[in-house]
Amino acid sequence: MSIFEKITSLAKRRGFIYPGSEIYGGLAGTWDYGPLGVELKRNIKNEFWKHMVQERSDVVGLDAAIVMSPKVWEASGHLESFSDPLVECKKCHHRFRADQLESDKCPDCGGEFTEPKQFNLMVETYLGVAEGEKLKTYLRGEITQGVHVNFKNVTDSTRVKLPFGVAQVGKAFRNEITPGGFTFRSREFEQMELQFYVKPDMEGSMKWFEYWKEERIGWYHALGMKKENLRFKEHAKDELAHYARAAFDIEYAVRENGSTSPTADDVAWKEMEGVHHRGDWDVKRHQEFSKVDMTYFDEETKERYLPYIIETSGGVDRATLFFLMDAYTEEQMANGEERIVLKLHPKLAPFKAAVFPLLANKPDLVRLAGSIRDDLKQLWMIAWDERGNIGKRYRAQDEAGTPFCITVDFESLENNDVTVRDRDTMQQERVKIAELKSYLAEKLK
Ligand code: ATP
Repeated sequence: MSIFEKITSLAKRRGFIYPGSEIYGGLAGTWDYGPLGVELKRNIKNEFWKHMVQERSDVVGLDAAIVMSPKVWEASGHLESFSDPLVECKKCHHRFRADQLESDKCPDCGGEFTEPKQFNLMVETYLGVAEGEKLKTYLRGEITQGVHVNFKNVTDSTRVKLPFGVAQVGKAFRNEITPGGFTFRSREFEQMELQFYVKPDMEGSMKWFEYWKEERIGWYHALGMKKENLRFKEHAKDELAHYARAAFDIEYAVRENGSTSPTADDVAWKEMEGVHHRGDWDVKRHQEFSKVDMTYFDEETKERYLPYIIETSGGVDRATLFFLMDAYTEEQMANGEERIVLKLHPKLAPFKAAVFPLLANKPDLVRLAGSIRDDLKQLWMIAWDERGNIGKRYRAQDEAGTPFCITVDFESLENNDVTVRDRDTMQQERVKIAELKSYLAEKLK
């Protein structure tokens, strides 16, 4: 089984991610996040916000509308150049992205391809009620433009001074020709971005570019992604997007056979986040198209200028997928059995702990376990399981990535303590119920 198949199956089995509209046969390129997935994804977004906005004094947040005036997309260049080369097989009529094909024959039937033509990825939509007067516009193809069109609003309504950034997290839509690789390439997905405005000088702006590259890869490291699974990939001059002066991707090593050996030769490096130097492209174009002055007044130098933009643009769904892949571990246990465990960083784990009464039919155990769960729930997401034997319950929590399992047994009734089992080491220790919160708080840091 490939790592994609393993993750897809675990995600479905445990309630991380389901195919979109599944009971109707699915809708290609759409995914629904289940009870565990919604927590994991939210934890990723919260960590992004904490690191990028809350803990900094030079970044503010924003949440712009998904549907914007169609003029935005004219100005940003998306209507003209946000496209991929599409080819169609003359025999089976399957369509492919020409730049992703390995041969000039159809991978499905061996047929010949048509000449590539540029296919625009923007998803159209219509607003308004009167037929014939409906406004044709688009679901945003990137969240970026919602920030740039508000550049003046932000500088006028807050005390920000250059250099400063605006962070945003939200949905984007692209009519991808070939969605696939589980959630890797979806038609609806979420992005987490920073648009950082700096003085328009190349040398100074490149320093910020380097700074943000390191910041962003460091964020993934700090949340537990293995260093050998991350790298930078520079875009060659002919690969640069229409707006970019310089661009590096942060790529993740997908190890197709599930091998965790860093020397495995079956590694496919996949883009997870991009760090881009956008020059003054966006503000300049919006100034040109809207006729609104987008210049920044520098109080120190008394100059007006259009700032340069350094962007960090990550996919929340790709990060979720790669955090899952990175955490996925198959382990041989002492008794010869295999266990699957998601070694997610505690900050990302959907549940921080699970509480079990040893036996479901002993009211005293269930009552005490229930009161511990309710108490811990004030602080964290806590799972509950009273079915089957303890071993099975541990296996289920291992697959959910829950860092700690707390079991209430007969001794608990006597001694006011519980067994706490560590997901990664499988070691167990007795902890006083009164000390559980501080014990977990320390371990979950
Ligand atoms: P690709 O080359 O894979 O199509 P891109 O270079 O067009 O991606 P950007 O426009 O730089 O991607 O978007 C920034 C980030 O948004 C990407 O690094 C990725 O994490 C995420 N992203 C882009 N397209 C998709 C998609 N179709 N599904 C899920 N995430 C996406």
